[in-house]
Amino acid sequence: MTTDYYAMLGVPRDASADEIKKAYRRLARELHPDVNPDPEHQERFKIVTSAYEVLSDPEKRQMYDMGGDPLSANGGFGGFNAAGFGFGDIMDAFFGGGANRGPRTRARRGQDALIRMQIDLPAAVFGATKDITVETAERCGTCSGAGTSSGSEPVTCAMCKGRGEIQQVQRSFLGQVMTARPCPQCQGFGTTIPHPCHECSGAGRVRTRRTLTIQVPAGVDTGNRIQLQGEGEVGPNGGPAGDLYVEVVVADHPVFHREGDDLHCTLTVAMTSAALGTSVPLQTLDGESVIDVRPGAQPGEVLLLRGQGAARLRSGARGDLHVHLNVEVPTRLSEQEADLLRQFAAIRGEAAPRVTSQAAASGGLFSRLKDAFTQR
Ligand SMILES: [Zn+2]
Ligand SMILES: [Zn+2]
Repeated sequence: MTTDYYAMLGVPRDASADEIKKAYRRLARELHPDVNPDPEHQERFKIVTSAYEVLSDPEKRQMYDMGGDPLSANGGFGGFNAAGFGFGDIMDAFFGGGANRGPRTRARRGQDALIRMQIDLPAAVFGATKDITVETAERCGTCSGAGTSSGSEPVTCAMCKGRGEIQQVQRSFLGQVMTARPCPQCQGFGTTIPHPCHECSGAGRVRTRRTLTIQVPAGVDTGNRIQLQGEGEVGPNGGPAGDLYVEVVVADHPVFHREGDDLHCTLTVAMTSAALGTSVPLQTLDGESVIDVRPGAQPGEVLLLRGQGAARLRSGARGDLHVHLNVEVPTRLSEQEADLLRQFAAIRGEAAPRVTSQAAASGGLFSRLKDAFTQR
């Protein structure tokens, strides 16, 4: 054997992998043909690269240490850039690599999609099954996602020779800098499709409308998102589909207003009904209930229907329905009605109006209203 790879790189025979890499990187920086194109430097660069190819590979290094020449099989130095030791390896050593170099794959994961779906309050409270139509991308049935017309194949890009990128040497104030950019011919794929599928024009997917059936869980509220795995857009060229997110919007209900897990409504009764007491049928989301208004009920009183609120997501337990009492004072009294009320007042010997602070009126309209919205 005549070649001494260790001497070529200027490292001792027991050099570590890191020392070998550093030595090669230092030499490559001054000898790389893109930096120093004269033939003498190019020849040295090949030799140094061959030495690195052997010593950076534990298997080849061991073979060399035992007296063999791992490069003799493929013609020694001439084949240094053959398969197995490509440009990426050199670039790795050059720039301390590990970065994703080389052509990128055509198949990519599809995008996630987000759509909004309006549902009514009963559907949000009890859950529902809904059909929605989505505009999305599906795998092309003609080419099964490959993007090629039948019987044809992608071919290696002529411009970048399949590397997916184009290297350039630029002069800057720091010296000469090597840069890489995606190949414009193949967009970095390393291959081109000479005969694209006529259905999808080579994209491997086509736009379509699809109807999906969605299970809306009981308890959802505006802003909740339901995730449907793999129901988003299919990726380009056979890539997996993204996810579909359905954002729920609960429409306002004419009667019931939702606050968290509770529902609220207002029951308006006449002054006389509040004074005498009454029973009022109320159509709740669960069916018909009867609200008992006690004699002497006050405006702002809250009657609770336990367990008739909205469901809690997952647990399924339900909040309460709060019925807020509103007492209507009659307006535009007839002469006879006014007389009766004056007699009523006289019989009761009603006290003159009182003025108190809001705080003193504990249990009054304001504090009860406040309680109804803060005590949960
Ligand atoms: Zn196609
Ligand atoms: Zn290319």
